[in-house]
Amino acid sequence: MTEQRHDTTAGAGREAVARAWDELVATARRTVTDGLVVGTSGNVSVRVGDTVLVTPSGVAYDKLTPADVLGVDLDGNRLIGGLAPTSELPMHLAIYRATGAGAVVHTHAVHATAVSTLVPELPSVHYMTAALGGPVRVAPYALYGTDELAENMLHALRDRSACLLQNHGTIAYGDTLSQAFDRTAQLEWMCRLWLTASAVPGHAPSLLSLDQLRETEEKLKGYGQRT
Ligand code: 13P
Ligand code: ZN
Repeated sequence: MTEQRHDTTAGAGREAVARAWDELVATARRTVTDGLVVGTSGNVSVRVGDTVLVTPSGVAYDKLTPADVLGVDLDGNRLIGGLAPTSELPMHLAIYRATGAGAVVHTHAVHATAVSTLVPELPSVHYMTAALGGPVRVAPYALYGTDELAENMLHALRDRSACLLQNHGTIAYGDTLSQAFDRTAQLEWMCRLWLTASAVPGHAPSLLSLDQLRETEEKLKGYGQRT
């Protein structure tokens, strides 16, 4: 363990950090139990003030305890904890710097990754495309953990809350961990849907127009319960 520095001046109180870490660990575990990743693949982060809590690199999520809490600032300097942060820190931090995201989830979900090897954009087979901001792009391949990958990802995320990473996986962000996770699960489901529909010999799936997606986006603003 290297030195540990709890920085409360960065706006992240100890209690808020502890709560967010618990939620982050639960979300990371769910990526495994829901079949979105295998082993230590993928990574999760959540923002608490100017501190970004991240999963450590190469550590099984079921081994993580409250004592493993790990936080960096927006430049990647370690503020809390002694473990080495996820190798995909450049992608996570690029999203926080460029958007108002509160949480980021990266997975190697199998259908999404399969689609990332086939097309430059996921065909709009379902109206939930609109919930991610429009047709989901595929960021061109770059080596994992690099600034180049983070750059390709940011391009693909323009006006979107999720994208695919070619020959690699998914990345999605949201206001909260549960929103980032839900977007990831919806994206994986849509990729599975497109693969299923496009696998029927002699048929091609019908696709939604941009107008139909825009109309859906408007209607989704009123979706669910009004509190
Ligand atoms: P980490 O274990 O470093 O988070 O890497 C997993 C991964 O998915 C890299 O792309
Ligand atoms: Zn990955």
